[in-house]
Amino acid sequence: MSISGLCQICESRSAQERCANCGALVCEQHYEPGPGLCADCVAQGQPDRQSDDVDINRF
Ligand SMILES: [Zn+2]
Ligand SMILES: [Zn+2]
Repeated sequence: MSISGLCQICESRSAQERCANCGALVCEQHYEPGPGLCADCVAQGQPDRQSDDVDINRF
C-alpha cells in the first residue's frame, strides 16, 4: 500500500507516513515513528495537558 499526496502539516513535502491517531498523511519530518503519530498528535499528546481525564495508560 502506497501513500501519495502532500504532507498535511507542511504541505510542501510528499507524504511518507500516516498518523495512527488522526489519519493525516505526513512527511518524514512530521512523523514520529515511535508512537506512529504525526507532529500535531505528538504535540497534543504531551503529558502536561489537563483537558481530558482519559486513562490511556492503563492496560
Ligand atoms: Zn511535513
Ligand atoms: Zn495525527
